[in-house]
Amino acid sequence: MRIFLKRHENWREKVPALFRRAAALTMAVLLLSGLLPAQAAEAETCAVPILMYHEIKTFKTGADVITPYEFECDLKYLKEHGFQTVTMSQLIHFTKGEEALPENPVVLTFDDGYLSTYHYAFPLLKKYHMRIVLSVIGKNADDFTEHPDDDNLDYAHATWPQLKEMADSGFVELQNHTYDLHSLSRGRIGCTQRKGESDGEYARLLADDLGKLQGEILQCIGFLPNTFAYPYGKSGAYTEKLVRELGFQATLTCDYGVNLLTRDPECLFGLKRIRRGHGDRLEKLLAAAMKTIRH
Ligand SMILES: [Zn+2]
Repeated sequence: MRIFLKRHENWREKVPALFRRAAALTMAVLLLSGLLPAQAAEAETCAVPILMYHEIKTFKTGADVITPYEFECDLKYLKEHGFQTVTMSQLIHFTKGEEALPENPVVLTFDDGYLSTYHYAFPLLKKYHMRIVLSVIGKNADDFTEHPDDDNLDYAHATWPQLKEMADSGFVELQNHTYDLHSLSRGRIGCTQRKGESDGEYARLLADDLGKLQGEILQCIGFLPNTFAYPYGKSGAYTEKLVRELGFQATLTCDYGVNLLTRDPECLFGLKRIRRGHGDRLEKLLAAAMKTIRH
């Protein structure tokens, strides 16, 4: 760990400075183009990187699978460089003008709800007092709750009691990733509209599926998710419209980039993310992603 810290010492101040510079530049552009009132500009916009994680394993790594050590390095790095983890609810409050965001906000999202999130990430969140947004697949949570002995960290998902324990801790915000539409094998990619499927049929399918998981999460932890994460990041124009009608106030994609949030709640639809894969260096990832805001 000492080696890691020493190697990145010169980054200690640089990334937050990059964020400030990018935000200032964007603000200047908005001010010059007359899109923002000059006086309120500083408090009205905020650059928010959203990191995307999936699995943590000790025995297998890849684009969506990192080691527990790598995740701990991320948390240490963020803490030591003044980043503060925020939830989707905080972003929603910010866009509605109800709440300010802390300096250097960052969202850590975990998709799918694997058991490895509970086993490896959760203890580290408690240790570093940092938060994640966990978008779960309802059917998987149901199945592994029925068979809790099937706890193979290669594929198992967290059970409802484990999800509740995480949510109750305050370090994990549960969100919706479909009840049972996280599939590529049923004539559609995730929750996209199937070829030849009528708008009416599709609207019923989404309402039934997403609504079922909303009900389960509400029943389990007493919180109604406000954010929908698209499986595989895929959606269509009609999908987004339906998701809004179902009451979601934000959507997460797999598109790359950093989001510039304003006091307009519309800016929370189609949020971009930064995939954190095995071997990536977080400071490099963040600095590169910030450039998507500058241009
Ligand atoms: Zn997923």
